[in-house]
Amino acid sequence: MNKWNHRHIIDLANFSQRDYTSVLELTHRFRSLPQSGARKLPALQGRLVATLFFEPSTRTRSSFELAARKLSADVQTFNPSSSSLNKGETTIDTALTYVAMGADVLVVRHRSTNVPAQLAAALEDAGKRTTVLNAGDGLHSHPSQGLLDLYTLAHHFDPLNPSPICLQNKKILIVGDILHSRVARSNLWAITACGADVILCGPPSLVPKDFQAFVEAPPPGLGPDPIRKRGKIEIEHKLEKALPKADAVMALRLQQERMRENLLSDIDRYQRDYGLNHEKLNLCKQPIPVLHPGPVNRGIEISSSLLEDRSICLVEEQVRNGIPTRMALLYLMAASESAT
Ligand code: ASP
Repeated sequence: MNKWNHRHIIDLANFSQRDYTSVLELTHRFRSLPQSGARKLPALQGRLVATLFFEPSTRTRSSFELAARKLSADVQTFNPSSSSLNKGETTIDTALTYVAMGADVLVVRHRSTNVPAQLAAALEDAGKRTTVLNAGDGLHSHPSQGLLDLYTLAHHFDPLNPSPICLQNKKILIVGDILHSRVARSNLWAITACGADVILCGPPSLVPKDFQAFVEAPPPGLGPDPIRKRGKIEIEHKLEKALPKADAVMALRLQQERMRENLLSDIDRYQRDYGLNHEKLNLCKQPIPVLHPGPVNRGIEISSSLLEDRSICLVEEQVRNGIPTRMALLYLMAASESAT
C-alpha cells in the first residue's frame, strides 16, 4: 500500500493521485468482504472512535459507526440534544472531553465551515495524538462523501478494477444547489483529480460563475496542488444541453436550511427545469447512471420512479459503498498513526 500522509482528513484539495488510488483500492477490498456473518477485522482493536455530529445525519454517522465496528474499534456516539452544549459548553471543549476519555479518532460534523480544521489545529497545539475526520462542515467539505461517490463512479465504469483511471476523459454532470453544497465541492476536487471534466448545472442563483475556477488554487494553508493536470469545470444552466454530454449525472439536494435569502422563488419551476426523470434522461447519448448523496427531496431533484429504478439509479449503491469507503479512511489513518 502507498504511504499515507494525512494525519487528519479535512479536505480533498490536498489529495494526490496516490491517495485516491489507496482509498479506492482498499474500499474495493473491504467491499468484497462478505457483509453478513463476517468476522470483524482487528485493525482498530483497542481504539476509540467518537462520532461528534453537531448537525443532523442519517447515513454518514451510521456508516462511520458501522465501519469503525467492522474494524473492531470501540464507538462512542455524541448526542447534541442531550449534551452539555445546552449548558453553554463550546464545540471545542466538547470535543476535548472525548479526547480526555481516550478517543483516538474524532469524526466531526458541524454546520460552521472550518470547525474540524480548527479542532485538528487545537489538538496539534495541545500535543494530542487524536486525529480528526471531517464528516461535513458548513458549505466547505465532505471528504468521505466525495470519496464514496468517486468509488461508485469508478466501479460503475469498471466493476472489476475501480481505480481513478476509470474516470479519465469522462464528463460528470452535477445538477442542483451547487452554491450550498459541500458534497459538490469535495466532488469537484476528487473528480477533476482523476482527469474527468465536470459540468455544473442549475439556476444562475445556485451555480455562480466563479465555480468555473474552483479547482484552480487550493484553499490557503494546504500547499501547492499535488495534481499536475486536473479535468475542467464547465457551467451550463440548461439541463437539456448538459445531459447529452454527460457520462454520469449526480443530483444535489436543495439546501433550504443554508439559504440565507430566497434564492429560489419557485420550487415547481426548479423541478421542471432541473428535476431528473426518465424522460429527460432520454436526451443522453447512452444510458447513464444517476447519483445523489441523499437525503433526496423525492419528486423535486429526482422523480420517484427514477429513484426506484435500480438499473439506473445508484443511490442505494452509494449508501452501501459508504461503509467500505469509511473503513478505508479509518484504516489508513490508523496505519499512518502506528507508523509514526
Ligand atoms: N448528506 C449530504 C451532506 O451532509 C448532502 C445533503 O445534506 O444534501 O452534505
